[in-house]
Formats: sequence, C-alpha cells, structure tokens
Amino acid sequence: MHALQHRGQESAGIAVSDRTSILVVKDMGLVTQVFNEKSLVSLQGSIAVGHVRYSTTGSTRWENAQPIYQTTKSGAIALAHNGNLINTEELREELLKEGNKFVSTSDTEVIVNLISYYSDFPIEKAIQKTMERLRGAYSFVLITEEKLIGVRDPYGIRPLTIGKIENGYILSSETCGLDIVGAKYVRDVEPGEIVIIDENGLFSIQALPVIKPSLCIFEFIYFARPDSILYGKNLYEARRFMGARLAELAPIEADIVAPIPDSGTPAAVGYAERSGIPFCEGLIKNRYVGRTFIQPAQTLRQLGVKMKLNPLRDLIKDKRLIIVDDSIVRGTTSKKIIEILREAGAKEVHMRISSPPVKYPCFYGIDTANRSELIASDKTVEEIGKFIGADSLAYLTFDSLVESTGRPREDFCLACFDGYYPISIPQDLKLTKFILEKSS
Ligand code: AMP
Ligand code: SF4
Repeated sequence: MHALQHRGQESAGIAVSDRTSILVVKDMGLVTQVFNEKSLVSLQGSIAVGHVRYSTTGSTRWENAQPIYQTTKSGAIALAHNGNLINTEELREELLKEGNKFVSTSDTEVIVNLISYYSDFPIEKAIQKTMERLRGAYSFVLITEEKLIGVRDPYGIRPLTIGKIENGYILSSETCGLDIVGAKYVRDVEPGEIVIIDENGLFSIQALPVIKPSLCIFEFIYFARPDSILYGKNLYEARRFMGARLAELAPIEADIVAPIPDSGTPAAVGYAERSGIPFCEGLIKNRYVGRTFIQPAQTLRQLGVKMKLNPLRDLIKDKRLIIVDDSIVRGTTSKKIIEILREAGAKEVHMRISSPPVKYPCFYGIDTANRSELIASDKTVEEIGKFIGADSLAYLTFDSLVESTGRPREDFCLACFDGYYPISIPQDLKLTKFILEKSS
C-alpha cells in the first residue's frame, strides 16, 4: 500500500480474513496516518485486501473509504475498486427499488450491492453477473472468507497484475506493489477476466469477452509509478523515450534542461540526453507537501506551488531553460512555475510537454477537469504558451506517445487527447463535465 500511495491519498483501508470472519480497518488519510504497529496487530489472517482512495465518484468522507464490507446470503465480502463506473446512477436507482440500502455515494458500493444481489449464485457467477451490468472502468479485488478474487473490466482500462510469493499470490494495481513485498510478476489480469485464488491455487474465468483492450495511456504518461511495468514496458524507459522524441520534434537552443519534479523527470532526462543540453534540477521539491485529505489553511493554500517547489536561483539566473513536464491540464501549475523561474532570473523559459494537449475530460477514473477548465479544449498551442508565459511551448505528438509504449494505438484509451471514448458516455453524464462549456 505504501508503494501504491501515489494512486490515492484520501483514505486507506485493509480487510483481512482469518477464514472464519473478515475484519476491516479503514480511515481518512495516508497509509501512515491510518495504520501503525498497533492497528496492524489486530489484522490477523491469511487473505487480505488493501486500498488507497482517490475519488472520482463520491465525496471525500469516511463512508466512501474502502475496502467496502458487506454481508451477503453466501457470506461476507470486502471489495476494493480502482476505476470509475459510468452507469452508477442507473444501477443505484434499480437497486434502491429492489430495497437495497446505501451508506456511501461511491460507485464501489453499487458493485458490492450487485454482487450481494446475485449472492444466491456461487461467488464467481455472482461476479460474472455483476460484470454484465457494469459499464465503465473497473479493476477490483475482493475477498470472501476463503478466497481472494481479482477482476478487470472487458476493456482493461485500469491495470491489475498478478504476483507470486512463496506461499501465495498477490494482486496489485502496479508491479511496484509486487516488488516491495518480494513477489515475482506472473502476468496481468486480462480484460474481462476473473482470477480466483484459494487454498487450491489460482484459477481463471474469462467472464466476459475482451471488447477492445483500452489501457489508459495516462498511466504511461503520469499516473503509474516510473518503476512499474505496463504491457511489458518499464514506465521510466517509456517516459525517457517520450522526452527524447520531444527533443527531436521540438529542439531549441538552451543552457539547461530541468524537469518539473517528479512528474517531468524521466522525460527531462530523455530530452537532455537526446539534445546534448545538460540536465539540471532547477526546482527542488518539498517531498512533504502532498495532496492529502487535509486541506491546508487558506494562507498556506495561497502559497500553492511555492510551497512545493523552490528554484535553485544560482543555477537558473541568466540561463535559457527548457522545462519539461508530463502534461498541462488547467495550465495553472505551469503558469506559476514559469513566474517563479522568471523571478529567479531565468533569461528564457521554454516549456516541453511529454504528452499531447489534454482536450477532453476523463470518465474512467482519472480526475482531470471539466471540459471548460481544460486549457487545451479551446486554445491553440500558441495561445497556451502565451497564457503560461513561456517563450516557446511544444507538446509530444500522438504517434510518438504511442511509439513510446511499444504497443499499437488500438490497445489504448486516448480519450482525453482525441475525444474517442472506448466505452460510450451516456449523455446525462457527459453533460456533467461538458456543461460549463455550454453555459460559458
Ligand atoms: P495544471 O495546473 O492543471 O495544468 O496541472 C498540471 C500538473 O498536474 C502537471 O505537473 C501534471 O503532472 C499534474 N497532473 C496531471 N494530471 C493530474 C491528475 N489527474 N491529478 C493530479 N495531478 C495531475
Ligand atoms: Fe486515461 Fe485519458 Fe482514457 Fe481517462 S480519458 S482513461 S485519463 S486515457
């Protein structure tokens, strides 16, 4: 869970089965805020599921923390979900009519309620029937009193990997979660697959046919950790390649290549190597200022980027800088960083971004923004460059981004860049993220 903390900082939880009952400990905050030696002692058993939450459906409150526990006709379950459903409301209304009760506002509770609804069937069948009803992105891991089960939607939008340890198996969103416990990577859970792990070993059911593998390409660009492997590719290497391509596509004379840490670091390394311009850490990041569930006081919030990043003035002064980051979403971060660099005496600031412009909102589990808030939704690259105050701005092309992954374009969701949503978004949901554009 420590290794996966970057995937969510709002809440953390663990459910453990000792084969007779399931115990859940969860709370708001980071893994280190929720768990200590004492609370871990109470969690005894041989099957467990842990979760760190990053919300895209449902608000930031305790009830939405995961794993979500429920007793069903065939025993207790605890479930942890990565992704975002797009037919949550429809399913919730249907379940409410059937007399189901909800304590949270999350889409995950809908999944749990559906599995419970079908719990006259064996658990594998109940999950398969649930999968037939779900639309959207879901990789989830659940435990019963006797089994550990991993599931991936038929598009495989969010990752889920299988690892082997001496006496068992581990399922993890990313391979970096396997490394830390010494598990050996076995393979990914396939789109549409259910894997069941119990005392007899690991079994697989292809519950739904693969519709179109559509792994989120933003995992490659930003979300997953650089030491993880996706589609057989180390993400540090993929990001370094993105930077190298960017250097070929958008060269410029400068004295230093500096990343926006940490998201821009591998691409900045690649840019520097390919351009021959020295890599330099122009901005130092305070690693203790994160996105936690505790909102900082207004005075601290106003400090914003300044609290997180401090420029190395002596290195920057009178220099022509190339600044590399993975993406521009709203444009506010880049704008502030460029202001800070100019205040520190930079002579020129050239911004290079290792992904194409983000033009469309995400409905599948990455918290980007509404369409109208996305700076690239209605501005040209030149206009964005002006807005953020850069001397020049360049983005990576689609083709080079895809090339960095070593897989064909068809294997990915690229909707936030090209607007093609592999799972079509219902009109009412679309309006929630497109509506501001309509009224502006
Ligand atoms: P913005 O100010 O909105 O343009 O933010 C861009 C910065 O946010 C970049 O440094 C990205 O690394 C980072 N970023 C991109 N996507 C996300 C996301 N979904 N959640 C949090 N940060 C992000
Ligand atoms: Fe990932 Fe973008 Fe697709 Fe969302 S829309 S799943 S962020 S590629």
